[in-house]
Amino acid sequence: MELDLAGKRAAIAAASTGLGFAAAAALAAEGCRVAICARTRAPLEEAASRIGAVPLVADVSDCVAAARFVADARDALGGLDILVVNAGGPPTGGYMAFELDAYRKALDLNLLSTIAMCREGVPGMQQQKWGRVVAITSMSARRPKAQAVLTSTARAGASAFLKAMSQEVAADGVTVNSLQPGYHVTARLAQLYGSKADSLRAGIPTGTLGRAEDFGAIVTFLCSTHAAFINGVAIPVDGGAYPGLY
Ligand code: NAD
Repeated sequence: MELDLAGKRAAIAAASTGLGFAAAAALAAEGCRVAICARTRAPLEEAASRIGAVPLVADVSDCVAAARFVADARDALGGLDILVVNAGGPPTGGYMAFELDAYRKALDLNLLSTIAMCREGVPGMQQQKWGRVVAITSMSARRPKAQAVLTSTARAGASAFLKAMSQEVAADGVTVNSLQPGYHVTARLAQLYGSKADSLRAGIPTGTLGRAEDFGAIVTFLCSTHAAFINGVAIPVDGGAYPGLY
């Protein structure tokens, strides 16, 4: 299928490894010009060199730096057509495991970074009458979990922001969607579950964990012209593990 992405200019946040990198690699393979960020220069530059991306060091948990990443990407690429919003994930634990400051940090990392990047990137897309925002969130936004209270709380806010914004910008040719990963094989999964990661397959109808490359391909489809009528949705990518209809 022709995705019509050649020459599109794409900024992908938090993309030296994992799902962000897979999204960047897949967009680059479709002929997009790509800029990526992460906090640490050496692995970022190594990742960027593998896919011909522009590396921009930024910690998106700082709203100012998150917005600057998008502005720098736009400058480096000569404009911006695609924004993939992403960040790391906060620590896991129950509601009393954290002081309020940890909640603030999680909101900075996964909610305010989303708002800051969109506020910087989306108005230009509206002006040029074409744009795509794809946010990488989490199934915890759909199904909050007791031991994942920080991510559940922050992702719910981000999802609400994205949904509200999607209704405002769609008439300008800008779609806004999010992908909600279930369990995918990445450094994050290894960090959270260690040697037990493989046993998570037991709770997934497909009997498999997600592959980052497949996730990247889904991002490219949402960015394509074919996806112009998909807007304002949060799509589970979890092998069918979520048990509900909505
Ligand atoms: P990962 O740890 O493999 O990769 C995260 C990437 O983000 C790395 O490139 C890292 O350098 C970068 N990063 C982290 N914090 C950053 C920051 N503050 N500023 C800039 N860059 C930063 O993680 P992943 O598995 O690819 O996860 C991506 C997102 O999806 C995370 O928010 C994660 O919580 C979420 N998620 C992942 C899974 C999964 O199974 N992998 C499941 C649910 C949600």
